[in-house]
Amino acid sequence: MRTRFAPSPTGPLHLGHAFSALCAYRMAKTNAGTFLLRIEDIDQSRARPEWEAQIYADLQWLGLDWPHPVLRQSSNMGAYQAALDHLWQRGLVYPCHCTRRDIQAALTAPQEGDGAPQMGPDGPIYPGTCRSAPRPATWPADAALRLDMRAAMALLPQGVQFCETGSGAPEWHMMNTHQAIENIGDIVLSRRDMGTSYHLSVVVDDAAQAITHVTRGQDLFDATFVHVILQHLLGLSQPIYHHHRLIRDDAGKRLAKRDDARAIARYRDEGLTPADICALVGLQPRP
Ligand code: GLU
Repeated sequence: MRTRFAPSPTGPLHLGHAFSALCAYRMAKTNAGTFLLRIEDIDQSRARPEWEAQIYADLQWLGLDWPHPVLRQSSNMGAYQAALDHLWQRGLVYPCHCTRRDIQAALTAPQEGDGAPQMGPDGPIYPGTCRSAPRPATWPADAALRLDMRAAMALLPQGVQFCETGSGAPEWHMMNTHQAIENIGDIVLSRRDMGTSYHLSVVVDDAAQAITHVTRGQDLFDATFVHVILQHLLGLSQPIYHHHRLIRDDAGKRLAKRDDARAIARYRDEGLTPADICALVGLQPRP
């Protein structure tokens, strides 16, 4: 068994991160497996070395350990480019020049109907404006790349499925071709400003690191269908998924990076112990 915790160094780790990291760590340790840490820093406009240093310090303080060197996604861009190239060669991705505003305008045009736009894992489902434009021989550096979901699902006529253990016993969750087109649509696989995306890099790295069990928050459940589709298209192995409950604030809202009050570093400064953090997130202290 190989699990991982994959934070983005864009702010302090909070109680939700501590819970997620502890879930992955304990799952690996109780099964004589390996727990890996991965730094998801593809968004170089938001990643900061001081947040990365804080991640290492907080996780060590919580009692976690992991093998070195740690994979940092910013040093792995070649692998994402290779995956994109593979999809490009097979006509499964296309360049998109639309801005957020263009997409909004297309979605609110009268012929699109007057209901609220359908939401996918990354926001409103893309209306397909650039899908039928002639595709150049090589992809333009100044464009985003979108997955052509119709072309992708034509290769997966049975649909996709994944095994989920978040509620105890393993359950299979399925998505058919029609649902993938309607509920996910042509998602961005390479952002103009990054040269990759969360979905693409997470799938490439989970496979490269031979992760067998992906543990992460329930908020990423829907994105998992995107990941499973990409695993099929790229010929990558498929892990088992464990989407855990989310840690919420007193008002029931999911914790966000800006919730400094619940930052692990803040609790440390206030004199709390790792056992106190476990109690706050509803876990038994370390056996
Ligand atoms: N970097 C992502 C996050 O912090 C990781 C999500 C995942 O575990 O797949 O939300």
